[in-house]
Amino acid sequence: MNILEKLNSIKSQELTAKENVENYIKVIEEKNEEINAFIDLNKEQAIAKAEEIDNKIANGEEVGNLAGLVFGIKANINVEDFTISAASKTLEDYIGSYDATVVKRIKAEDGIIIGINNMDEFAAGSSCETSYYGKVDNPAAPGRIPGGSSGGSAAAVSASMCDIAIGSDTGGSIRNPSSHCGVLGFKPTYGAVSRQGLLDLSMSLDQIGPMARDVEGIALALNTIVGNDPTECTTLDLDFDFVKEIEDVKGDKPLSGMKVATCKDFKAVTDDNINSIIDESVAKLEELGAEIVEVEFKYVDLCLPTYYLINYVEFFSATRKFDGRKYGSRIEEVCGDEVLRRIKMGSYISQQEFSGKYYKRALQARTLIRNEVNSMLDGVDLIVGPTVPKLPHKLGEELEPMEMYAYDVLTVIANLAGIPAASIPAGDVEGIPVGLQIQAKPEDDLKIIKAMKALE
Ligand code: GLN
Repeated sequence: MNILEKLNSIKSQELTAKENVENYIKVIEEKNEEINAFIDLNKEQAIAKAEEIDNKIANGEEVGNLAGLVFGIKANINVEDFTISAASKTLEDYIGSYDATVVKRIKAEDGIIIGINNMDEFAAGSSCETSYYGKVDNPAAPGRIPGGSSGGSAAAVSASMCDIAIGSDTGGSIRNPSSHCGVLGFKPTYGAVSRQGLLDLSMSLDQIGPMARDVEGIALALNTIVGNDPTECTTLDLDFDFVKEIEDVKGDKPLSGMKVATCKDFKAVTDDNINSIIDESVAKLEELGAEIVEVEFKYVDLCLPTYYLINYVEFFSATRKFDGRKYGSRIEEVCGDEVLRRIKMGSYISQQEFSGKYYKRALQARTLIRNEVNSMLDGVDLIVGPTVPKLPHKLGEELEPMEMYAYDVLTVIANLAGIPAASIPAGDVEGIPVGLQIQAKPEDDLKIIKAMKALE
């Protein structure tokens, strides 16, 4: 049963919202201790909300587009009455005092929020090993990292602890763990979803998006969360119907007329066993009617330095409010190594800025990268390739910071350019999931969901 079918069976009372919630509570009780995907839960509230929805349905009242579906929310997105810690000791006592715009929208459509997902501290990581609340295990490849930073979200979806999880993606944090945990993840065009209520990692790169086990789940969530928000000035006024788009995917060759590009420069930085799985997906896209072409991207080497420089500076600035006066402890006194590294580097770079030494250069590099991405996309509908160039390492293996950053080389491009990008399961290497990344021009989010549906 896909998630749209589940939604319909809730609306027609074949399955109650309460049963849906209780089924997930059972899995959470069985598995969460091991996987550590949820770090705050409110089971009673979820059941009460489900009963309310079931009653409305029984009385023939109108219910929302997500009626009875169960959500996990990443710990850096405000949800009233839950602990919104960003997985940091800094915020361990902070209880969300309002709902982020995305959360408001989900609640307005009768989605049920069961709890808060674990993550890398302040979303600064690619492995989910830096949480103050402990590491997350990968349900699809036990004993390995789930990826990050939305690793708890991906693990919760992968282990069937909820229908949909909402994550954030600054340099890959939705797509990377989706790839490693064998689920689907979607980072919309920058500005498509309101960031109001999100704790910034790097505000010019951050974007909120969904993770789910099927394309229907992604489409339903996007229909709810994409759209203009008068309280968040970077949002765009987009009116997309993702559900309709996937319902229109029919026949043998649903992708005919679409030009899909591959890029050898992405392949060159990726392990062979991953590349061969990606090649199979490309062959499938061709069978589905797409015309396959090749494009070049000459700035792969520039992407990580540019991304991390911007990230350090913007993160440093964002953390200045955690000075201990309002939210508990001063961040530098209690945070982990990676967060401290970013604060120190960000502070140093900001001090050098009078001479335009680093940040200005990074912004110039970002423009170069964005222009190159735009010319790559000129005349093609989609670019496909690996989401992550390496398989997830084993929990407990120690990586140098640069090795950790190397996981992000193919995902940061979309954030730097502001384009939409998604990851969909493509296969596995000895049981370890591998994701295919699909990218498109700004505001071409619908083309991505179409290709995802065709592949699924
Ligand atoms: N791994 C990247 C980083 O550490 C991306 C994180 C993210 O997207 N939130 O910054």
